[in-house]
Amino acid sequence: MSCQTPIQTVFDTIMKLEDAGELATYIPELAHVDPNKFGVCLSTVDNRQFSYGNATDRFSIQSIAKVLALSMAYKMPGGEIWERVGVEPSGSPFNSLVQLEADNGIPRNPLINAGALVICDILLSNLKNPLADFMTFIRDVADNPYLNYSHRIAESEKSVGYRNIALCYFIKSFGNIKNHPKDVLEFYFMLCSIEMSCVELSRTFLFLANQGRKTSDNKEILTLSQAKRINAIMQMCGFYDESGEFAYEVGLPGKSGVGGGIVAIHPNTYSIAVWSPRLNKKGNSYRGMKFLELFTTETASSIF
Ligand code: GLN
Repeated sequence: MSCQTPIQTVFDTIMKLEDAGELATYIPELAHVDPNKFGVCLSTVDNRQFSYGNATDRFSIQSIAKVLALSMAYKMPGGEIWERVGVEPSGSPFNSLVQLEADNGIPRNPLINAGALVICDILLSNLKNPLADFMTFIRDVADNPYLNYSHRIAESEKSVGYRNIALCYFIKSFGNIKNHPKDVLEFYFMLCSIEMSCVELSRTFLFLANQGRKTSDNKEILTLSQAKRINAIMQMCGFYDESGEFAYEVGLPGKSGVGGGIVAIHPNTYSIAVWSPRLNKKGNSYRGMKFLELFTTETASSIF
């Protein structure tokens, strides 16, 4: 079945509604993005692709990249991840500090900032050239040697990154960050500033819809069990204190970023990326959420 018609129909419906969100201005560079951009791309496990709107414009994928960092860390020997970070929804904003004190510096899950910082620390401890090795990993997963991060956005976030700096040093005080916090933060800001278009993003995440394997050459990125678990974590934690709402409205595992991107996975079928920079109060794309809600309803393609 072609998904082009439902994508266009839903897109046009959403365009007629008010875009009630706001740009993420707390990262100065993100305030310069055109708030009216709106793109979608759906990639299927049998290698078809349907896109519409500003689907080839690159944007800052921000927290969506946390899933890629987790995927790479999951492959590391030692299996220490789940002793250092949990798999429970936090029910708190993405950059919250409050639970860490009671939880002895063990973040609730790897998709909030605290958890992603611990994942970055694990990568730093295991990679020879963390930055280069991570970029090689995502370019391989994406079959795209041209993917990169934006120095400008990384520097912009670093210049105002007080909360992330606080989080990293706080976790370090519990002994759950092993490297120097400065190095961990440097890596984290780079991670958040990776840029992709909807076409590239949906393609990159296809391995999570394809049982952990790339669709182009069947190469195993994650085992079946690891891919299942990452999808489960996205389902429970991918939208912070709006994860329940996303499951309820959209019914797919997914991950958002404050750049206005959302990627969602229909296991064994497709990966879909949406981008619209205005965010709702919880930091998730206003139109992106609405689009996916209508799209999964229109195509009856929720997993529930
Ligand atoms: N780089 C952003 C931050 O740390 C990522 C947050 C997000 O996308 N939700 O604040």
